Amino acid sequence: MAHIKLHIPGPVEVSEKTFRAFRTPMIGHRGQGFKDLYAAIQPRLRELFCTQRPVFLSTSSAWGVMEGAIRNLVSRKVLNCMCGAFSDKWYEVARRCGKAAEALQVPWGSPIRASAVEAKLATGQFDALTLIHNETSTGVMSPLAEIAALKRKYPEVMFIVDAVSSLTALPLEFDALGLDVLLAGSQKALAMPPGVALFTCSAAALAKAATVNDRGYYFDFVEFDKNGQQSMTPSTPSIGHVYALQSKLEDIFTEGLAARYARHLRLAQLTRQWAAGHGFTLFPEPGFESVTLTCVNNGAKAGGRVVDVPKLQKLVKDQGFLIDGGYGKIKGTTFRVSNMGDETEATMGELYAALDNALRGL
Ligand SMILES: *Cc1c(COP(=O)(O)O)cnc(C)c1O
Repeated sequence: MAHIKLHIPGPVEVSEKTFRAFRTPMIGHRGQGFKDLYAAIQPRLRELFCTQRPVFLSTSSAWGVMEGAIRNLVSRKVLNCMCGAFSDKWYEVARRCGKAAEALQVPWGSPIRASAVEAKLATGQFDALTLIHNETSTGVMSPLAEIAALKRKYPEVMFIVDAVSSLTALPLEFDALGLDVLLAGSQKALAMPPGVALFTCSAAALAKAATVNDRGYYFDFVEFDKNGQQSMTPSTPSIGHVYALQSKLEDIFTEGLAARYARHLRLAQLTRQWAAGHGFTLFPEPGFESVTLTCVNNGAKAGGRVVDVPKLQKLVKDQGFLIDGGYGKIKGTTFRVSNMGDETEATMGELYAALDNALRGL
């Protein structure tokens, strides 16, 4: 069957070069070959995360580390900043871990604002907060720097940030922002196969983790640090992913971070223009649109155009492209188009042409 090219917001297309690296013959994960591989990618990983801290590799999807962060860093109560499906679910996950948790919910389509976070932190009840930088379900980017600035006023609060669908698409300055955890998955803007999550922790986060009970083993941050010091992971990692990551880092640094960031912004702007040009409005509050995907309103707001989304998806798929028909409670009233990873003006142009054709066929 012909491959349908992915323009859903994860997983995204994986290049042949990355796949070739992924299928490098296996090595032992306690041998020097693996340690050398692990050590070799650290400098670029740290540059990507804008940190001097080690970057850890977890063989899991992002949720493993998201749950792990809760288990490692919450002893009193966590504030879950919620503005879409993934950030809403993090609250549920905290509760399932048996933690005291409080929801800071804003309507889907809105970002999290620092003023709302501050009002909660000022109560003094919280020792951690979770924030999703780029809420993939709604296509909204929350103002990370504005929120992270609160860390100076509330240094005891662990700032846990999910950059699953934004890492590599715009600068995320872990050290300068003073964050405690920053995590990402492999299958979003990194354009790798799913199955690995990357994260970094502040020294304060590791010190705190060491004092928290019931961290478990698989996602114990203290274990990641202990093993990381020997250029290893706590348990057997997906070694193919580590080779793929090494290859991907080559690509990213060959292109250059600034160029990669500019490309993501440009392509997101092209998609927004495509939508406006066809009478659609956007789901995110203006000024908070994601640079990795575009969440388009299907007539729900501001008198925008209305289409049959499943039919649109089918007509696009018949031309070889997969777009997303909306996530959770906004399925059908929105659709999403991803530009994350390795896309270019040329490849996005092919997608817009297919979308144009599909709209003519509706
Ligand atoms: C995809 C996504 C997740 C979940 O990632 P998994 O790899 O499915 O665990 C979490 N947060 C955000 C922002 C995402 O886009």
